[in-house]
Amino acid sequence: MGVLLVTGGSRGIGAAVAERAAAAGWDVCVTYRSDADAAGQVVAAARSLGVEARAVRADAAVEADIEAAFAAADELGPLGGVVVNAGVVVPKARVDAMSAERVAAMLAINVVGAVVSCREAVRRLSTAHGGPGGSIVLVSSAASRLGSPGEYVDYAASKAAVDTLGLGLAKEVADEGVRVNVVRPGIVDTAIHASGGQPDRVERIGPLVPVGRAGTADEVAAAVAWLLSDEASYCTGSVLDVAGGR
Ligand code: NAP
Repeated sequence: MGVLLVTGGSRGIGAAVAERAAAAGWDVCVTYRSDADAAGQVVAAARSLGVEARAVRADAAVEADIEAAFAAADELGPLGGVVVNAGVVVPKARVDAMSAERVAAMLAINVVGAVVSCREAVRRLSTAHGGPGGSIVLVSSAASRLGSPGEYVDYAASKAAVDTLGLGLAKEVADEGVRVNVVRPGIVDTAIHASGGQPDRVERIGPLVPVGRAGTADEVAAAVAWLLSDEASYCTGSVLDVAGGR
């Protein structure tokens, strides 16, 4: 099992993943961008479950930060899994109103950060690099197949890139002991919507989901935890929608 690195693990889905992983016996290293107190609470919750835990400030848009986060995880013990979860939404806008700067800043986190995180994961986990094997889960979004028209098509496209990263990487490392899978949450009740300028998004869209409500971070974390586990030993290159039928 070993150490699980969760990017963006201080709040929302990442925090729920870290807590479920700790309950399953993983030592956890969570990264965050700015909210050290929230990250500290996740670490305390994990430690209370009897595992080792630490938090590292690491901006997913900064390559050196990602490298430092993996180095910090190495200090806890041998890496066994990585959840590439850090991601941001952007303010609502049509494509005909998007600036290149907005799109580039979002892609740096959601796509470049995800690829660099996978690179660091494979360098440690792959048997081709002398590693023990392991599991990588990428947190994408149902937006990748819905397209998010009138809202944030650029974000949706970034998550389509995450889907494809997962599919391709899974095949690249399938015979090197590393499983790579993608989880696509639908609308989930976290602070991400307020951070994108739509604090009422869960209230507005939740009732329109086929099951009639938004999901919880823990419902997504349950899927991630299963894909990380040996119970999912024959799953790689899978894309699992956790979206209430949306
Ligand atoms: P959230 O509640 O806003 O939490 C985001 C987490 O990522 C926090 O830990 C935050 O750290 C961290 N983070 C943000 N920017 C970062 C950066 N540049 N570098 C490192 N860490 C960063 O978000 P969430 O709803 O849990 O979303 C998690 C993932 O699920 C994202 O990839 C998102 O796109 C995806 N997703 C969410 C939903 C949804 O409805 N909530 C739906 C589909 C997909 P700080 O606490 O320090 O800010």
